Amino acid sequence: MSEIKLGILGGGQLGSMLSVAARKLNIKTIIYCDDQKAPAQNFCDQFIYAEYKDKNKIYDFAQKVDIITYEFENIPFETLNELNKLKTVLPKPSVNRLIQHRLAEKDFINKLNIRTTRYVHIENKEDLLPLEDFLPGILKTTTMGYDGKGQHLIENIVDIESLNIDFRKDYILEKLVKLKKEISVIITRFNINKYEIYEPIENIHKDQILRHSKIPANITEKILNQSKEWAILIAEELKYIGTLCVEFFIDRNDNLYVNEIAPRVHNSGHLTINAYNISQFENHVRAVCSLDQITVKKLSNAEMFNIIGSEIVQYRENPKLDSNKFFFDYLKKDIKEKRKMGHLTILK
Ligand code: ADP
Ligand code: MG
Repeated sequence: MSEIKLGILGGGQLGSMLSVAARKLNIKTIIYCDDQKAPAQNFCDQFIYAEYKDKNKIYDFAQKVDIITYEFENIPFETLNELNKLKTVLPKPSVNRLIQHRLAEKDFINKLNIRTTRYVHIENKEDLLPLEDFLPGILKTTTMGYDGKGQHLIENIVDIESLNIDFRKDYILEKLVKLKKEISVIITRFNINKYEIYEPIENIHKDQILRHSKIPANITEKILNQSKEWAILIAEELKYIGTLCVEFFIDRNDNLYVNEIAPRVHNSGHLTINAYNISQFENHVRAVCSLDQITVKKLSNAEMFNIIGSEIVQYRENPKLDSNKFFFDYLKKDIKEKRKMGHLTILK
């Protein structure tokens, strides 16, 4: 077969790492992004800067590629749907529509008899008032949230006035889980009952942003098996093609909950680049491009640290590291507080 051209919507660090993985497989990447400064343009073969709703540019993009995927979930459904009429989009647009809406996502998970936090749909301020038993809780916008954006912690009803919540948006209110731990499971599904799954990753968040990930996760055998089973069930039920991440909470009584599903490669899986024979990125490219499925094998235990905001400066000034340490610079020009600028993986 002639060289495959993979189109990727979104140009952040996930797009960069997908491009690097694709190059290793001799696949060309063409990235489409609405950010002129998108860092992935440093790593892909061709970069198109345009709005996601620009019909002409979307059409031109489709003409250039063989297959299309995306690296973040907040791409307008209409764009994915239009593109899917021209070239195959994987994961399917309908999967993305379901998961980009927190209410639909949680309803779907509960229908599979998988535990989530308790939640209710909030359409206006009055909906919140009778919900004392949901507090303390977290109010989350139903769409467009990431890295804790669009979330408000509500300790008690009197907080509502002072929080300045924009009730033109739709929300869900979730009961706060008394967290013991957070883990994630990354799975790449190729076809019916054909998947590669990585062992659960233990994650530490600060201010709702992932800071640190490690394998192995310090969890019981029961939670290890249950989390993998639920990830497989979710991937199968969605008829998913590509890499997917399920984020979990473990409470103080060792109850496991699904927090959310990311229909894409995931920050907690960056350590798979160095710790496994095949990374989450390579597996995603393999699955969406219908390449061979290769059994994943762990090569080493590992830890990953996100490098946030101005922390990047010291790494840029002194990038030389021991041979078990791997520094990734996302090459983002503007250093912003809370912005993920790079990461460091340490093999153990
Ligand atoms: P995002 O889409 O921004 O990743 P999440 O729903 O995953 O949003 O929330 C980000 C983080 O906030 C979680 O990883 C967790 O640390 C904390 N968090 C979110 N919801 C809850 C909850 N119901 N109980 C306890 N912690 C929560
Ligand atoms: Mg999350």
